[in-house]
Amino acid sequence: MNVFIVYAHPSANSLNGALKDYAVQRLQAAGHSVQVSDLYAMEWKPALEAGEVAGHAVLAEQEKLLWADVVIFQFPLWWFSMPAIMKGWVERVFTHGFAYGIGEHSELRWGDRYGEGTLAGKRAMLMVTAGGWESHYGPRGINGAVADLLFPIHHGILYYPGMDVLPPFLLYRSDRMDDARFAAACAALGKRLDALATTVPIPFRRQNYGDYDIPAMTLKVDIAPGVVGFGAHLA
Ligand code: FAD
Repeated sequence: MNVFIVYAHPSANSLNGALKDYAVQRLQAAGHSVQVSDLYAMEWKPALEAGEVAGHAVLAEQEKLLWADVVIFQFPLWWFSMPAIMKGWVERVFTHGFAYGIGEHSELRWGDRYGEGTLAGKRAMLMVTAGGWESHYGPRGINGAVADLLFPIHHGILYYPGMDVLPPFLLYRSDRMDDARFAAACAALGKRLDALATTVPIPFRRQNYGDYDIPAMTLKVDIAPGVVGFGAHLA
């Protein structure tokens, strides 16, 4: 498979840098082709300019997305989300006509998005390190459930242009690493990378397959009755 890693960490000597190197080696050893966009090393310009037209840098990233069978977004959790440089990569690379504004759009059919679109058929996975404990991100954890925190990225960024989103690879307490924990993290990551083609995606509901009233785009009353919030959009 072709695997594209979009990677954001300012230091090559970081934990994230070591995990990225491990992932590239593991994927290549398994016979996959790998491309990495190391956003800090590339000095990626994150700010979208008024009236910006996709230039060489943006088109090159779109080419990598089109090339990929699997796209991995790797980052340390910063303020409960991706680092700003990666958000700026999304804002500039996911352009109108590429990642949104696709397909015939009317009040009877809301275009191609949420399971359909340019990137349909590709798989995406987040690879995230977090300083907090796993329990802090549990269903009743003080930080909020991790599935809820990642929903805007999973659903709003990756699923929106059509990608199937795999459950994330998460490494908690990432500021408290030693050699043994690093080895265990690599082993767990390796298993996930080996299973990229077969892992069951998060079952987000598809937009154009009968679950939503159009044009309100709310779930039909008989679909998951009484369920509200992010979880309602899981089939
Ligand atoms: P590093 O700082 O590079 O290293 C972390 C540990 O791993 C160190 O002990 C280091 O010695 C060790 N290590 C590094 N390389 C190796 C190796 N090859 N082998 C063995 N050990 C190694 N956390 C949250 O949970 N939620 C947040 O919202 C959040 N917001 C943050 C916002 C900011 C601006 C910052 C700076 C941090 C935030 N954090 C948050 C913590 C952050 O998620 C962690 O600091 C980050 O995930 C650690 O990854 P790193 O690559 O930067 O680690």
